[in-house]
Amino acid sequence: MTRKLFVTTALPYANAPFHIGHMMEYIQADIWVRFQRLIGHEVNFVCADDAHGAPIMIAAEKAGKTPQAFVAEIAAGRKPYLDGFHIAFDNWHSTDAPENHALAQDIYRALRDNDLVATRTIEQFFDPLKNMFLPDRYIKGECPKCGTKDQYGDNCENCGAVYAPTELKNPYSALSGAVPVLKSSEHFFFKLSDARCVEFLEAWTQDGKLQPEVANKVKEWFVKGNDGDDSKPGGLADWDISRDAPYFGIQIPDAPGKYFYVWLDAPVGYLASLKHLLDQRGVDFDAYLADPELEQIHFIGKDIVTFHTLFWPAMLKFSGRKVPDRIFVHGFITVSGEKMSKSRGTGISPLRYLEIGLNPEWLRYYIAAKLNSHVEDIDFNAEDFVARINADLVGKYINIASRAAGFLNKRFAGHLSADIGVEGRVLLDALRAHQGTVAQLYEEREFGKVLREIMALADRVNGYVDQHKPWELAKQAGQDTVLHDVCSVCIEAFRLLTIYLKPVLPALAAQVEAFLHVEPLVFADASRAIGGHKIGEYKHLMQRIDPKAMDALFEPPAAPAVLPGGEALAPEIGIDDFAKIDLRIAKIVEAKRVDGSSKLLQLTLDVGEGRLRNVFSGIQSAYAPEDLVGKLTVVVANLAPRKMKFGLSEGMVLAASHADEKAQPGLYVLEPWPGATPGLRVR
Ligand SMILES: [Zn+2]
Repeated sequence: MTRKLFVTTALPYANAPFHIGHMMEYIQADIWVRFQRLIGHEVNFVCADDAHGAPIMIAAEKAGKTPQAFVAEIAAGRKPYLDGFHIAFDNWHSTDAPENHALAQDIYRALRDNDLVATRTIEQFFDPLKNMFLPDRYIKGECPKCGTKDQYGDNCENCGAVYAPTELKNPYSALSGAVPVLKSSEHFFFKLSDARCVEFLEAWTQDGKLQPEVANKVKEWFVKGNDGDDSKPGGLADWDISRDAPYFGIQIPDAPGKYFYVWLDAPVGYLASLKHLLDQRGVDFDAYLADPELEQIHFIGKDIVTFHTLFWPAMLKFSGRKVPDRIFVHGFITVSGEKMSKSRGTGISPLRYLEIGLNPEWLRYYIAAKLNSHVEDIDFNAEDFVARINADLVGKYINIASRAAGFLNKRFAGHLSADIGVEGRVLLDALRAHQGTVAQLYEEREFGKVLREIMALADRVNGYVDQHKPWELAKQAGQDTVLHDVCSVCIEAFRLLTIYLKPVLPALAAQVEAFLHVEPLVFADASRAIGGHKIGEYKHLMQRIDPKAMDALFEPPAAPAVLPGGEALAPEIGIDDFAKIDLRIAKIVEAKRVDGSSKLLQLTLDVGEGRLRNVFSGIQSAYAPEDLVGKLTVVVANLAPRKMKFGLSEGMVLAASHADEKAQPGLYVLEPWPGATPGLRVR
């Protein structure tokens, strides 16, 4: 029977490019989805940018952009990663899209009509310096459960506890450092403590939809008094789903100035992305979801289990919608043993990996080889990576084709032997007999096991090659038929192994299909023999990794050149780093010496802002003030103002000099070419 699958990965927060942790999750889900398709099931595989919330609003404001423009820029950068690593989402959408606004509001209205929304006036942290209610993520302090320092106001990265920011010990504002004060505001709550929710979730979380270790962890949350409040049934606390303006998000119906907390509308984005996809295809979204055969599956990281095992299924259930069928939770990826996290990023840039020419399928293979069905962290280790690719993928698998194809092309015009003899058939039948095991391991997300299984099969094929030594048969007279059979067995074995590896290595499989002159392979093709078939010319399919290539992944270019100025180049930066420096054309309106300083000139600059800036610049030795007035120059316009003995300096004028100004004097202020006007950005 054909399964109908709706599969998602967690929505990435649209405030930064992808890191290696995102790629691990996408590769895991993509392999599973590709496998399902290769055995004939129907999958819709979607994701979206998680666009809302205070962190994006604040970051956009700092960047001088609207939040919409800010997230659009992040979204525009997603494609090179997804295409680069062969992640085949059917749709990529945004939680700020109209579908999501409508769906989130619909779900909310249904919950409200079901008497599962309450309003309560609560005291909330307010930053007296910034004059705003502080978003959870901008209040830091010690976790109330485990005491870990510098935890955010909503959940603990160490122990996974979820709590209100007011429960943090020793809180401080991450925006200003101020100790926040409590202020009243009316908030909306999803009544998770309602007996209906508790009863539903107690059953839903324990009926096999979750991995056993996840189900056990979730069970603890239902213990009465778990959240410190013995009066509530089931240990579940109501969930605060509203935020006060200013907020970048979706308005709460009939509640001016109130917005949904980003975590309410984020998972709704799964549905919005699906709806966007189905609308494009002319498929009815509600009918699709109403199909009882449909399986809804979410791949997520272990840090967002609460949202996906409590809030999300309860929101769906009590708004009369389909609830998830499976939640597949994975651990984190560490790099060379170093812990990374969603907020701190990691040592490997996926784009850099591609830019330095490393094969994306090496990473897919390596990550797959490390993954299993459990919530375990995996480690990226460069030596291990090189060993697995060179010894297993190239040494065991690719080698089978490269050892046999040349003889077939040269001696037999590319034709496979029509009758390969008993020994060859026994080997190939053994390979085919593993199809069920291979499929089961893919289904169970035991990717490490499935690759070990496939490599064990490759070992058997290589044993057969070593036993028959085609390179010797080729030199012996009268051995043509044997040589033909042996090489044909190798190519057929290679085709079978390619079918088994195709979920992990889709691009390589496409190359193999071109080489073998066969239609795109699916799992059912394993039971079909291709004796007598004519294959194409063998071209090299995959290189070994040069271990030196890995250095470039981790280290900036070695031994920077020393330039005429006597100074080595600073470490390499990305365009994102450069973009942080806001350089502007400035007109020097006034320039004068500073009493008590032999170095500084006081400049009054017009940076096109409708106000003038005061900047102190150490250029007195090189310029007379009257020569500067009226000239244009370049200023670092977003440098934090600096309080100096002589007053506040609001920027920095750019000038070139030698590293050692005393040994080699000379100071040259930058001046733009004619035509530039104050306020233009230098990029
Ligand atoms: Zn904790």
